[in-house]
Amino acid sequence: MMTTHCLFCRIVAGEIPAQALYEDDEILAFRDVNPQAPIHFLVIPKKHIPNLFEVDMEDAGLLGKILFTAQELAITEGMGKRGGRFVFNCKTDGGQSVDHVHLHVLGGRALAWPPG
Ligand code: AMP
Repeated sequence: MMTTHCLFCRIVAGEIPAQALYEDDEILAFRDVNPQAPIHFLVIPKKHIPNLFEVDMEDAGLLGKILFTAQELAITEGMGKRGGRFVFNCKTDGGQSVDHVHLHVLGGRALAWPPG
Protein backbone atom coordinates (compact mmCIF):
# COMPACT_ATOMS: atom_id res chain seq x y z
CA MET A 1 0.00 0.00 0.00
CA MET A 2 2.10 2.89 -1.22
CA THR A 3 0.40 6.20 -0.66
CA THR A 4 3.01 8.68 -1.83
CA HIS A 5 6.54 9.23 -3.09
CA CYS A 6 7.35 11.53 -0.18
CA LEU A 7 9.73 9.76 2.21
CA PHE A 8 8.43 11.50 5.32
CA CYS A 9 4.78 10.98 4.32
CA ARG A 10 5.65 7.30 4.08
CA ILE A 11 7.14 7.37 7.58
CA VAL A 12 3.96 9.09 8.81
CA ALA A 13 1.92 6.34 7.12
CA GLY A 14 4.01 3.63 8.79
CA GLU A 15 5.27 2.34 5.45
CA ILE A 16 8.89 3.05 6.43
CA PRO A 17 10.03 2.43 10.02
CA ALA A 18 11.39 5.22 12.18
CA GLN A 19 12.45 5.56 15.78
CA ALA A 20 9.65 7.77 17.03
CA LEU A 21 10.10 10.07 20.02
CA TYR A 22 6.65 11.66 19.95
CA GLU A 23 3.48 11.43 17.88
CA ASP A 24 0.05 13.00 17.93
CA ASP A 25 -2.61 13.67 15.32
CA GLU A 26 -0.67 16.57 13.77
CA ILE A 27 3.05 15.97 14.25
CA LEU A 28 5.70 13.27 14.49
CA ALA A 29 9.22 13.38 15.98
CA PHE A 30 11.78 10.70 15.17
CA ARG A 31 15.54 10.15 15.30
CA ASP A 32 17.53 11.07 12.21
CA VAL A 33 18.79 7.91 10.50
CA ASN A 34 22.17 9.59 9.81
CA PRO A 35 22.84 11.57 12.97
CA GLN A 36 25.22 14.54 12.73
CA ALA A 37 25.53 14.90 16.51
CA PRO A 38 25.03 12.65 19.56
CA ILE A 39 21.46 13.96 19.69
CA HIS A 40 19.78 14.46 16.31
CA PHE A 41 16.08 14.15 15.73
CA LEU A 42 13.49 15.61 13.36
CA VAL A 43 10.07 17.09 14.10
CA ILE A 44 7.65 17.14 11.16
CA PRO A 45 4.03 18.01 10.44
CA LYS A 46 2.01 14.98 9.37
CA LYS A 47 0.46 17.16 6.69
CA HIS A 48 2.62 17.36 3.57
CA ILE A 49 4.18 20.83 3.26
CA PRO A 50 7.22 20.85 0.93
CA ASN A 51 9.29 23.51 2.70
CA LEU A 52 9.10 26.55 4.95
CA PHE A 53 8.37 28.87 2.01
CA GLU A 54 5.05 27.08 1.51
CA VAL A 55 3.55 27.59 4.96
CA ASP A 56 0.96 30.27 5.56
CA MET A 57 -0.78 31.87 8.52
CA GLU A 58 -3.19 28.99 8.92
CA ASP A 59 -0.16 26.81 9.72
CA ALA A 60 0.95 29.12 12.57
CA GLY A 61 -0.42 26.85 15.30
CA LEU A 62 1.12 23.79 13.70
CA LEU A 63 4.54 25.46 13.48
CA GLY A 64 4.30 26.61 17.09
CA LYS A 65 3.51 23.07 18.15
CA ILE A 66 6.52 21.78 16.21
CA LEU A 67 8.78 24.28 17.99
CA PHE A 68 7.44 23.61 21.49
CA THR A 69 7.56 19.85 20.97
CA ALA A 70 11.16 20.23 19.79
CA GLN A 71 11.92 22.23 22.94
CA GLU A 72 10.32 19.63 25.24
CA LEU A 73 12.06 16.72 23.53
CA ALA A 74 15.40 18.56 23.54
CA ILE A 75 15.06 18.96 27.30
CA THR A 76 14.13 15.29 27.69
CA GLU A 77 17.16 14.34 25.59
CA GLY A 78 19.43 16.34 27.92
CA MET A 79 19.99 19.51 25.87
CA GLY A 80 18.39 21.88 28.37
CA LYS A 81 21.62 23.01 30.01
CA ARG A 82 24.08 23.31 27.11
CA GLY A 83 21.59 23.89 24.29
CA GLY A 84 22.05 22.92 20.67
CA ARG A 85 20.65 23.84 17.29
CA PHE A 86 17.15 23.99 15.77
CA VAL A 87 17.33 24.11 11.95
CA PHE A 88 14.98 24.17 8.95
CA ASN A 89 16.99 23.49 5.78
CA CYS A 90 15.13 24.99 2.83
CA LYS A 91 15.30 24.28 -0.89
CA THR A 92 18.55 24.10 -2.90
CA ASP A 93 20.81 26.58 -1.11
CA GLY A 94 19.66 25.29 2.27
CA GLY A 95 20.69 21.77 1.30
CA GLN A 96 17.18 20.36 1.78
CA SER A 97 17.13 16.74 0.63
CA VAL A 98 13.61 15.71 1.73
CA ASP A 99 10.85 17.97 0.44
CA HIS A 100 8.62 17.77 3.51
CA VAL A 101 9.04 20.42 6.23
CA HIS A 102 11.24 19.12 9.05
CA LEU A 103 12.89 20.77 12.00
CA HIS A 104 16.31 19.33 12.79
CA VAL A 105 17.24 19.31 16.49
CA LEU A 106 20.94 18.72 17.14
CA GLY A 107 22.87 18.63 20.39
CA GLY A 108 25.17 16.73 22.67
CA ARG A 109 28.32 18.41 21.36
CA ALA A 110 29.51 21.93 20.49
CA LEU A 111 28.34 22.77 16.96
CA ALA A 112 30.37 24.94 14.58
CA TRP A 113 29.07 28.23 13.15
CA PRO A 114 28.82 29.41 10.42
CA PRO A 115 27.71 26.28 8.52
CA GLY A 116 29.94 25.28 5.61
P1 AMP B 1 17.50 17.67 4.93
O1 AMP B 1 18.81 17.41 4.25
O2 AMP B 1 17.48 18.95 5.74
O3 AMP B 1 16.35 17.58 3.96
O4 AMP B 1 17.32 16.53 6.00
C1 AMP B 1 16.76 15.30 5.73
C2 AMP B 1 17.18 14.41 6.86
O5 AMP B 1 16.40 13.24 6.82
C3 AMP B 1 18.65 13.96 6.80
O6 AMP B 1 19.33 14.38 7.97
C4 AMP B 1 18.55 12.44 6.71
O7 AMP B 1 19.56 11.78 7.43
C5 AMP B 1 17.18 12.18 7.29
N1 AMP B 1 16.55 10.94 6.85
C6 AMP B 1 16.48 10.45 5.59
N2 AMP B 1 15.80 9.29 5.58
C7 AMP B 1 15.44 9.03 6.86
C8 AMP B 1 14.74 7.97 7.49
N3 AMP B 1 14.24 6.91 6.79
N4 AMP B 1 14.56 8.02 8.83
C9 AMP B 1 15.05 9.06 9.54
N5 AMP B 1 15.72 10.10 8.99
C10 AMP B 1 15.93 10.09 7.68
